[in-house]
Parts: sequence; C-alpha cells; structure tokens
Amino acid sequence: MSETQPNPYTETSPVVLLVDDSQFVHRLLEARLRSESIVLSSAEDGKAGLEIAQRDEPSLILLDLDMPVMDGFETLRELKEDPRTRDIPVIVLSGMNSSQDKVAAFDLGAIDFVTKPFELTELRARVRSSLRMSELLRMLAQKAHIDGLSGLYNRQYFDEKLSSEFNRTLRHGQSLSIAMIDIDHFKSVNDTYGHPAGDAVISGVANLIMRETRSIDIACRYGGEEFVIIMPETDPNQAQLMCERIRQGCEHLAWSRHPARNITISVGVAGTGNTDTVTITPEGWVEMADKNLYHAKQSGRNRVVTTGLDGTHISLAQAG
Ligand code: GH3
Ligand code: MG
Ligand code: MG
Repeated sequence: MSETQPNPYTETSPVVLLVDDSQFVHRLLEARLRSESIVLSSAEDGKAGLEIAQRDEPSLILLDLDMPVMDGFETLRELKEDPRTRDIPVIVLSGMNSSQDKVAAFDLGAIDFVTKPFELTELRARVRSSLRMSELLRMLAQKAHIDGLSGLYNRQYFDEKLSSEFNRTLRHGQSLSIAMIDIDHFKSVNDTYGHPAGDAVISGVANLIMRETRSIDIACRYGGEEFVIIMPETDPNQAQLMCERIRQGCEHLAWSRHPARNITISVGVAGTGNTDTVTITPEGWVEMADKNLYHAKQSGRNRVVTTGLDGTHISLAQAG
C-alpha cells in the first residue's frame, strides 16, 4: 500500500499523500477522492510517510495521529523541520478529539484538523481548499524569485542559489561554469531611442538567453543590463560554445523600435571541468567571470572571454 495509485491525471494532477495505519481509511478515501483530480499516494506509518514526502514532495498530506512506528505528532514535527517538506500543507485526520491535541497539531504547523469519523463531503472540500492554497503559495514563492521585466530569475535568487549549486557540484565532482553577460553601449540605446526601447532590449536579450539555456541552467538578471548564468555540468569549453551562440544570436536579432541599430553583448566566463580540486569561493568564481567580462569590453566588446579556474585561457572569440 505504499505505492502511488494509477490515475488518469498523473501528468498534471497534484499528489495527495495519505499517512494512516487504517486500511479502512485508505480504502474509504481512495473511493471517495476518486472523483477529485488528484493522485492519491499512501503510507501506513509516519516513517514511511516521511520518506515518501521527502522523495515525492506531494502537494498535500493527510496525516493520522495515532500510528505505530512514528506517530502523527512526531511525523509532523519532522516534516516541518525538513526544508524539502516544510511547506507542504498537512491536514490532520484524527480520532483524537481533545482541544489539547488540536492545539498541539496546529502549533506544530498543521493547516487543518478533521475529526474521525469524518464527513466525506466536508473532507473533500477541505482537501480542495488546501490544494488551492498550496498552489497559490507555490506561485507566490516562484514569483518572488522572478524579475518582472526579463522573466529570468532575479538577483536575490541568484545569491541564494550560487553557493548551493557550488556545493552540489563540488560534492559530485561535476563541472560548473558561470557566465556574466553585459549589453554593449546600452546607455546610448536609452539615450537615443528612449527608456521603453531600452526595456525592450533587456527583455529581448533575456528571451534569447532563455531560449539558449537548458532547464538545469540558472539564468538571472544580475542588475540593470547585466545577466548571469550558472551552468551546472558544463565545462568552460562547453560554456564558451553556449555563450558564443547567445552572442551571435543577439547580433542577428531584429529590433522593431530601432531596425537600423543592432545590439551586441559582451560575455565573461569562468569554469572548470573538474570540481575535485577547486579552492576558489563561489564569490571568487563570479569575480573571475566579471574580470573576463571586463576584458571582453576592453578588447572591443561583442565577444566572449573564457578561462578555466586553473587560469587556462579557453579562447577569445573574435567578433565576425
Ligand atoms: P558598456 O558597453 O561598457 O556596458 O556600456 P553601457 O552603456 O552598456 O553601460 P553603462 O553601465 O554605462 O550603462 C548602463 C545603463 O543601463 C545605465 C542605466 O540607466 C541603464 N539601465 C539600468 N537598468 C535599466 C532598466 O531596467 N531599463 C532601462 N531602459 N535602462 C536601464
Ligand atoms: Mg553594465
Ligand atoms: Mg553595458
């Protein structure tokens, strides 16, 4: 009973995890929640529930209190302590009906408390309402990380992600590269064609970056007309190729507000093929990419300058 039930909605439906030691409750909810567009996943004790929650990150957890191995209170405490499961709403389903238990469950972070035997129509409504709230919270959290003009991640998200990506790749000995991108002579776009035209350029370059990056890359607006891309599993040679594609793509973009004026970018990349021997800090890494960006500007703009972290010079792509 610890497997996800087959369900026609699997692609898009939220997963609801039921943690309860009673077979009866599992059968009852499977039957009664079937009409909801959810995928019901099950565990029969708190420990198994925790493992599934950490692995699958369900949208909602229905949690019994009185269970063997690990009871509901302990499970709830552990769910709320783990960053992976902390934000998953938990509805407590319990035969325990004292105010003390309810208060304890809410204090531990439960979003709702339903007393057994439950009124099924009411439970369905509560499940629906909790799922709505969890979706809104997810959207809000995502929105807080997105830059409004470019649609890329914002600076705050970059700052949050930099060291975690760095540590993750270090742990796995994977390659990693970072690119700093700056639009050339951007001030003159603003000055000549106006601020809205400048904004359109920022958003156009961002679209291009989005198109050329993979889903594992973290592309951010670093500030003003500068962007930064964290590229996991990418050595400096591959990063150079990718940035060169973005540079060339930019050069050939057509701009409706200023058809006669094309836009170019300069890029600085720092990366390594093997993180086993890295001694530099994440901030030092960004600084190195920034230094390369400076060299790209100094040597004529519209180019990508890349070095490996050991100082190896990858290339200096000359603009066509
Ligand atoms: P360089 O080739 O050396 O990078 O020159 P630049 O003109 O691109 O660089 P500079 O740093 O001198 O100018 C950046 C300009 O970007 C100045 C600032 O007013 C403008 N800017 C910053 N944020 C925005 C924005 O959100 N929208 C618009 N339209 N302009 C912005
Ligand atoms: Mg700049
Ligand atoms: Mg610039």
